[in-house]
Amino acid sequence: MEKSFLIKPMLDEEYPVIDYGKGVYLYDVKGKKYLDAASGAVTANIGHGVQEIIEAMHEQAKKVSFVYRSQFTSEAAEKLAGKIAKMTLGELNWCFFVNSGSEATETAMKMAIQYWQEKGIQTKTKILSRWVSYHGITLGALSMSGHPGRRARFAPLLEDFPVIHPPYCYRCPYKLEAPGCNYLCAQDLKVAVNRIGAEKIAAFIAEPVIGAAGGAITPPKDYFKVIKKICDDHDILFIADEVMTGFGRTGTMLACEQWDVIPDIVALGKGMGAGYAPIAATVASEKVMEPILAGSKSVMSGHTLSANPQSCAVSLAVLEYLEKNKIMNEVECKAVYLQNELEKLKGMFPFVGDVRGRGLLLGIEFVKDQESKTPFSRTAMITQKIVSIAKEKGLLVYPACAGIDGVNGDAIIISPPLTITKLEIKELIFLLKETLDLLKVQIEYGGQ
Ligand code: PMP
Repeated sequence: MEKSFLIKPMLDEEYPVIDYGKGVYLYDVKGKKYLDAASGAVTANIGHGVQEIIEAMHEQAKKVSFVYRSQFTSEAAEKLAGKIAKMTLGELNWCFFVNSGSEATETAMKMAIQYWQEKGIQTKTKILSRWVSYHGITLGALSMSGHPGRRARFAPLLEDFPVIHPPYCYRCPYKLEAPGCNYLCAQDLKVAVNRIGAEKIAAFIAEPVIGAAGGAITPPKDYFKVIKKICDDHDILFIADEVMTGFGRTGTMLACEQWDVIPDIVALGKGMGAGYAPIAATVASEKVMEPILAGSKSVMSGHTLSANPQSCAVSLAVLEYLEKNKIMNEVECKAVYLQNELEKLKGMFPFVGDVRGRGLLLGIEFVKDQESKTPFSRTAMITQKIVSIAKEKGLLVYPACAGIDGVNGDAIIISPPLTITKLEIKELIFLLKETLDLLKVQIEYGGQ
């Protein structure tokens, strides 16, 4: 292919043309094979080319591909909503389908504001969030995102929603360790609420495991319990952004289950369609929907392709595939093996600082010095180097920020399809070691 008419994400990088995908592998038109250890962007959760999903798409397309949401519903959308309600904890019974994670978090934000309005409270319009977070690229979602790099250009258009720091235990700002720390970083939410005024705050949003902005920063045991209690005590809804963590990525339908917390609203995306179709959802509890259904009767949001039958059929087939093959049950075992192997890298490479994550959403933070945890300079471009050396070697890893001072530092996410086999995990580790060997040489000779 001589000329690409696409706007490339990185103009100076090679941009291969993919021919097809099978399982955890992608193959480009030149025949090069890539082990997709990132599931694209933590999306291809069941791998590529799964026949059952292709058949479900085909069957739905034979019936009907599109109906408009304000005129009709479809069997696929109804079944999917019912199944999600059944598979999520508590009374998260209402699904509002959208097309991307950004739309899902933005709808969650609007739903929270509408909830208070329907109860006669007009002042609760702020959403609080954390620094070192990413909730999406549309302006509402970006307003909630504590990602200075992505905010900078549009700063005048954004609300200042990020107010507290994340549970970044590797670099605890209080120099403490959980649980002895008394979860001070979570207690900070109470301070922020008192400063701003609970009467102005509709909701607090957080990712259970921080993805792109933090390289799989994972909270200690009772962190979310403390957060939820502060929200409940101050009449603030808790929104879990499970766009990256939901649909089995950490071994349970929602990652929140692992911290024994039931959110009021959940945003889902990515793994919902597993890359086979664009679909995302905002899932609301009975509590949230009650005043909305009694008042305006509908959620003040929506898109032309909301609840698209084709996408819903895909997502339903993905859920059925996860269930039938008991894929979520196997995540923990695979994750323990992979995480142990990643931990070993600390002993082999002096620049592997931290290995963290939950389930098959794992992160590695890279540092100049393990002891002092000094980060590399920004000009060393360590993350970009790792991603491109790995790609050269046929391994796809997801670039992230480590979470220092907002979103600096170097980190990658390792998040292969949940269907990866032990043998494929071994290959992943082998290719990652080769990547880091080459990085080591570059660092030694480059003098970073
Ligand atoms: N929330 C989280 C936690 C995400 O990781 C992402 C995407 N990386 C989004 C929201 C936005 O999703 P999308 O790119 O599908 O709009």
